[in-house]
Amino acid sequence: MIDTHTHINTESLLNDIDNIVKRAVKNNVLHMIAVGMNKEANEQGILLSEKYPCIYAAIGLHPSDVNDEQLDVELLLQQAKHNKVVAIGEIGIDLYWAKDNFKLQKEVFIKQIELALAVDLPVIIHSRNSAREIYDIVKNYPSLRGVMHCYSEHTELLDKFINLGFYIGIGGIVTFKNSKEVLEIAKNTPLDRLLVETDAPYLAPVPFRGKINEPAYTAYTLSKLAEIRGLTTREMDRITTENTVRLFTKMNIQKQTVL
Ligand SMILES: [Zn+2]
Repeated sequence: MIDTHTHINTESLLNDIDNIVKRAVKNNVLHMIAVGMNKEANEQGILLSEKYPCIYAAIGLHPSDVNDEQLDVELLLQQAKHNKVVAIGEIGIDLYWAKDNFKLQKEVFIKQIELALAVDLPVIIHSRNSAREIYDIVKNYPSLRGVMHCYSEHTELLDKFINLGFYIGIGGIVTFKNSKEVLEIAKNTPLDRLLVETDAPYLAPVPFRGKINEPAYTAYTLSKLAEIRGLTTREMDRITTENTVRLFTKMNIQKQTVL
């Protein structure tokens, strides 16, 4: 299994990183992408990717960090050349936590899309109450590749993102009892566009709901997804792993030893 979206590069998980990686591998999560949000997390993600063969990194400035940190395109350009940096993310627009800085969020998002295209990397997109605004931007970049991570707005926009070639990241919410929207998304996304993720330390799947999430729990989301689509967990694992390496082309998981 591959956890395509985890924040093991942030404080709550970094403190116990050796055990977290061990538990992940023990639970068959053989690869994971440490997703950045700001300078510090980006840097930590790269350091982790150098220390552990099973860890890859994504770098970017999160929409919720744009007020606290200036976008440093030059630095991101440099870091993007690192052989373990496989994506630009997470980037996007969040109109749930803040609406008043929409203009700034949009500007930072667009600059990072252009960066991703310049270095030929996929993007990992964060969308909250903002799928329409995001679609209106990404549709202008037909060669952009990426994933709508932990996507939860089941509207006609799902099809539109899929038509643009985007992948859909399914996280622990799909295991929640009240997850109607995400359930519909998990049912209706073409099989060749599904990815699994934890978004750890957030959004732990049932039976760990409310606790600190970690990559080792990826299997709970994967098996729920398999059940929804009438497949075995093994089949769903094969499909989502293939999808992951098709999108994140710099991941070279055949050659990796695990620890
Ligand atoms: Zn995230």
